[in-house]
Order: sequence, then C-alpha cells, then structure tokens
Amino acid sequence: MQRFTGKTVVVTGGNKGIGLAIADRFGSEGANVVIASFEANVEEAAAGLRAKGMTAIGVVCDVTKRSDVVALYNTAVQRFGTVDVSVQNAGIITIARVEDLTEQEWDATMDVNTKGAFLCCQEAIRRMRSNGGGRLINIASGQARDGFIYTPHYAASKFGVMGMTQSLAKEVALDGITVNAICPGIIRTDMWDYNDRVWGEMLGDYEPGELMESWVQNIPMKRAGEGKDVAGLIAFLASADADYITGQTINVDGGLIMS
Ligand code: NDP
Repeated sequence: MQRFTGKTVVVTGGNKGIGLAIADRFGSEGANVVIASFEANVEEAAAGLRAKGMTAIGVVCDVTKRSDVVALYNTAVQRFGTVDVSVQNAGIITIARVEDLTEQEWDATMDVNTKGAFLCCQEAIRRMRSNGGGRLINIASGQARDGFIYTPHYAASKFGVMGMTQSLAKEVALDGITVNAICPGIIRTDMWDYNDRVWGEMLGDYEPGELMESWVQNIPMKRAGEGKDVAGLIAFLASADADYITGQTINVDGGLIMS
C-alpha cells in the first residue's frame, strides 16, 4: 500500500515543469492524478504517466475561468469519486520595468496566480467539505518572501497567495481540510529560461545561462532546485504526517531565503 493509494489529486499546470514533477510524484505513490492545464498537450502529459503504470487523466482548464474550474473538479469527482488533494501550481511571470509594465500584464498575472488559485481552492473546498476533508497546497514563490526587481505584479500575486492560504486555513480548519503554501526558490523549468533571458538582458550583459547560474551561487547549497525537490515537500504536506500543519508557508530553496 502506497501513501496515496485511492486518493485523487488535482494538479493545475501539471503538464510540465514543477507541476509535472508533482503529478509524477503522486502518481508514483499510488494516487489517481488529474493533470489540469491551459494547453491541449495536457492529455499527452497524462499519457506519459499512464505509460509508467500510473493512473492519470488530463483536463484542459484555464484556471482564470470559473466554468473551466468547475468542470475540472466535476470531472475529477465523476472519474474517481472524490478530490482529496488539490495543488494550485499554475502560474505565469513577466518581467518589466515599472514604467513599461502594462495594466494587462498586471491583471493577467493576478488572474492566473492569485484568482486562479482561489477559484481552484473554492471548488475543491466545496467537494472536500462534503467528503470529510482534504488537502490544499498553493504554490507561492520566494517572491512571496522578498519581492524581486522588475516583477511587482508577480510578487504581489504570490504575496496574495500566502494571505489567501492563511485566511482559508482558518475558515476550513474544522472541516478536516488543511491549507498550506510553499515557496520554491530557483527551480530549473521553462520559467527559468525566460527569467534568465529577460532579467539577463535587463540587469547587464549576461550570456545565456550566466545570470541564473550566478544567482545559484547565492544559494547556500550551491545548486538550483529540481521539480522533484518541490514535489517531495508537497507530498509530505498531503500525507498523514502533516495532519497538524495548516496555514503555513514553507520555503523549498536550498536555504536561499531563511525567513
Ligand atoms: P512553467 O512555466 O514551466 O509552468 C507553468 C504551468 O502553468 C504550465 O503548465 C502552464 O500551462 C500553466 N498555466 C499557465 N497559465 C495557466 C492558466 N491560465 N490555466 C491553467 N494553467 C496555466 O512554470 P514552473 O513549473 O516553473 O512554475 C510552476 C509554479 O511554480 C508557478 O506557480 C510558478 O510561479 C512557481 N514558481 C516557480 C519557480 C521557478 O523557479 N521555476 C520559483 C518560484 C515559484 P501551459 O503549459 O499549458 O501554458
């Protein structure tokens, strides 16, 4: 018997990067995994997990659209009976000087990172309450601890995720639902490539790959994180070992930020 046998786990943005590593981890521990993402290749990602003997389905879902989010959780319940764990991982970032940051960029970032996470929590809670409990895990960022240059919208969206986590945790504590957030540091994904290129251009004359590698030197452990580093913490928070942990925001960053 594995830790999550019989449990159903929804992972938004689960088709690649950190989200795919999370989906893979839950699948490898016996969960029924529902990968939700914006793009049509979500089914391909689910098929990749099934090819490894896991139980997984893909659902196309824009987390900023309530109707998509409702359909996502309905599909999960119809297919597997319940939703036990929901990981709000879908996120976007852009990088711009304050005078250049558009209102559209601000709104889109808040819509995906903060409102999207809320809509998923809301729909998951509706189903978890009637099912006797569950686990919500929200992906914030090191930028929810320490906002970085040229990303005020992203930092605001992730601070928002942390506040929302605390508020919801208090509201649903007696329903058997825990709500926690995590703050990844510097993790190698597509987001890393974008950050390296754009920050690299804005902060100085960096060759591709140089900027992020130089930031890695600020990490006490002197290595960037991998998706599996994040997935391990998420799986712990979803497990019975974390029954008494709620409303917390935990860093997973090799010691980059120690507060
Ligand atoms: P990626 O860019 O690799 O993946 C982002 C995921 O979010 C993709 O699956 C994408 O789907 C999905 N997504 C974007 N918009 C929507 C939407 N409207 N509806 C549904 N899904 C959407 O990012 P990472 O894996 O690096 O990041 C995952 C999370 O971790 C994000 O919340 C990010 O902010 C956070 N984070 C990442 C860090 C890092 O260093 N990488 C550091 C700190 C936090 P699609 O591919 O279909 O567009």
